[in-house]
Amino acid sequence: MSSVTLEHVVKFYYPGIAAADTKPIKGLNDINLHIPDGETLSVVGPSGCGKSTLLKVIAGLEYPDEGRVLYNDLDVSKITPQDRGVGMVFQDYALYPTKEGKNNMSYYFEVHHRSQEEKEQRLRETAELMGIGFEMLMGRQVDTLSGGEKQRVGIARCIVREPNVFLMDEPISNLDAKLRERTRTEIRRLLKKFGITTLYVTHDQQEAIFMGDRIAVMRTGSLEQLGTFDELYYSPANLFVASLIGSPPISVLPVVLDQNMVRVGEHASLTLPDHLAQSLPQGKLRLAVRPEGWLVAREPQPESLEMNVSRIERLFTERAAFAHGEIAGAPVSAVVPLDFPEAKKVYLTPDWQRAYFFAADAETALFVPGVPELF
Ligand code: ADP
Repeated sequence: MSSVTLEHVVKFYYPGIAAADTKPIKGLNDINLHIPDGETLSVVGPSGCGKSTLLKVIAGLEYPDEGRVLYNDLDVSKITPQDRGVGMVFQDYALYPTKEGKNNMSYYFEVHHRSQEEKEQRLRETAELMGIGFEMLMGRQVDTLSGGEKQRVGIARCIVREPNVFLMDEPISNLDAKLRERTRTEIRRLLKKFGITTLYVTHDQQEAIFMGDRIAVMRTGSLEQLGTFDELYYSPANLFVASLIGSPPISVLPVVLDQNMVRVGEHASLTLPDHLAQSLPQGKLRLAVRPEGWLVAREPQPESLEMNVSRIERLFTERAAFAHGEIAGAPVSAVVPLDFPEAKKVYLTPDWQRAYFFAADAETALFVPGVPELF
């Protein structure tokens, strides 16, 4: 097993002959990252941001145009996937449908003329690792298995070869919602048990949070931020990361800071605590507040923002709901107590300890609350 390091990795794609005069696309733009041995790193970002390209470069399915890929201290930039010892799981299972699970797993040993003893031993060890009920799946023909079961066989087929690095590209995105939830719990349990360095690619932030020890956020070929969920949530590097991580998303209001007063829209003003007023530039800014970062009242308060509630979304696991609406033309979501749902209006004041500020005309973070000490 090994750590994975990318140093200044650049990957170009050329749009093709028909578009010969257009510039090459930077699939990856100067990526630097380190995945310590045994860590699961989730990679998340919108479609086309370079997630799969990153995975392919780590796998050896694509070679970087610039920079290096290291497994431990070894430069593998020019080494084929077979020689890197990577295990890959994709959303289409790429299993042999008419073979049994067991034969899908043992195929590698046959092709590589490995001994019968080694094969049997590895199959036994893998079945044990995969847990209760897996031997049953090994005996069944793949095309009789459910999506989740196929994915377990797909994972086992990788594990049986003892990969250095495990690469998963949207492995459960074609399962239905219920099965996806169950399968992601199962995959997470297995990844913890295997302790293999893993890159887990998904476009779904919830899945990225659930799977990853840390999360890498990508956009247009660049790494925007890499950190734990708490770091991304409470100390986002910029507005893009702040908006991507969190559901419902952070509310972003255009404001003007005048001395220590924050003007919101035409009519409302809020007094900013001194330490914040002194650390922020005067003039136009963006104030951002997460749903749980509002102090909520039913009646107008001396300093509060009136929100017409357009929709209430019950939080079934909490005695609370999300109230969705608009303030100064911007969509806003706030957590409200469960006895609020009939309210047509709510009055919101930012809890300044939980407020974020960004520049008005750039995504730069000017103030973020930082990771709270929860325990
Ligand atoms: P993601 O996995 O995040 O959806 P990709 O890594 O597949 O994104 O793609 C990143 C960018 O590189 C996109 O703009 C995509 O169109 C481009 N790209 C990916 N593969 C190729 C290719 N083989 N040829 C040309 N462009 C490509």
